[in-house]
Amino acid sequence: MARRRGTRPAIQRNQRRTLLVLLLGLLLLIAAVLFHRFEVWRREPSPPVGELTIVALDVGQGDSFLILTPERKAVLIDAGPPEAADRVREALTRYGVLQLDLIIATHPHADHIGGMVAVLDAVPVRMFLDSGQPYPTRTYTRMLEKIREKGIRFVVAEAGQEFQIGAGVRLAILAPFPTRFQGTRSDENANSIVARLSYGAFSILFTGDSERETEDRLVEQENGTEPLAARVLKVAHHGSRFSTTRPFLERVRPEVALIACGADNAYGHPAQETLDRLRRWVRELHRTDLEGEIVIRSDGRRYEVHTERAVAAEDLWRGRRPRLRAKGDSAVPADWPQPSRAAPDLVGSPARTRFEPIPRAGGTVYEARRGPHRRGHRRVLSV
Ligand SMILES: [Zn+2]
Ligand SMILES: [Zn+2]
Repeated sequence: MARRRGTRPAIQRNQRRTLLVLLLGLLLLIAAVLFHRFEVWRREPSPPVGELTIVALDVGQGDSFLILTPERKAVLIDAGPPEAADRVREALTRYGVLQLDLIIATHPHADHIGGMVAVLDAVPVRMFLDSGQPYPTRTYTRMLEKIREKGIRFVVAEAGQEFQIGAGVRLAILAPFPTRFQGTRSDENANSIVARLSYGAFSILFTGDSERETEDRLVEQENGTEPLAARVLKVAHHGSRFSTTRPFLERVRPEVALIACGADNAYGHPAQETLDRLRRWVRELHRTDLEGEIVIRSDGRRYEVHTERAVAAEDLWRGRRPRLRAKGDSAVPADWPQPSRAAPDLVGSPARTRFEPIPRAGGTVYEARRGPHRRGHRRVLSV
């Protein structure tokens, strides 16, 4: 009895200790769950409201991208070659753009700024971002004169700048660098404006006609505040073999690659070796030369890619052979192909892919899924 009486408090103490340990374990478990939830919440920004639209215009051999934000702000990156001026203006009308909040001229080559004067004459422009490279061509000089004549705010781009295009849409400038490249294969290309547009979990990297040197420095200087990683990569220099290096792709890790180039272009864009490098990374490739106008829409959580024409994957992944030795982009061959004049019919687009967020350990990975065709994906702004 005495022994039993003596052991009872010891048992109670043991029970209390077990209870305490259990309670502590439970608290730790709750803390871990909460922390995990917080981590997830932190990694996934709260879903933005509205839809971001990015249009890769079919301007033949050149670049032109229209960005329409949920707040109906409009940004134009490049304006294609001179012969595509009508096409760019027509697109602005079709998407209901009455004013451009920002124009970016990635670099002064004619296949990027050829249609710019026509655009500046067509709609009011609030701000013009230029790479700031002296370039003594008539096309570039006339563009600068037009900007001055219209009294448009002119800004020279530099890595570190950031544009908030309405709520939730951020455009970060990653290049050109304060010290411009000199003595590269094409300094105009190498000093292209590189910009990363992000909206919620969606991001796209615009690269102009970046050269290998640009990509190397972007990789070197990548910092935590503005990563290179992007869901969609606008492939540099129309898919030429001089850029889209492996170390660069390792950092960008794109899911979708977008190439703007002309059907039957003499430069051999895109190069097969570039496509082979891309194929190791991306789930999908899209090309304006084969698919026509390409529209990407995102609500900040998932995104969809629509194309004007449906093209077999094997054709998309087939590169072109050059018929001309290209030095920069300035030399225009005699048999320069004209951009196709067929009016794009986006209603009832034949090809459409949905990217659904699939939660996985270590973040969210977007899976490509074929969705049913949907009609009428045009976005009309402030008509
Ligand atoms: Zn170009
Ligand atoms: Zn160029």
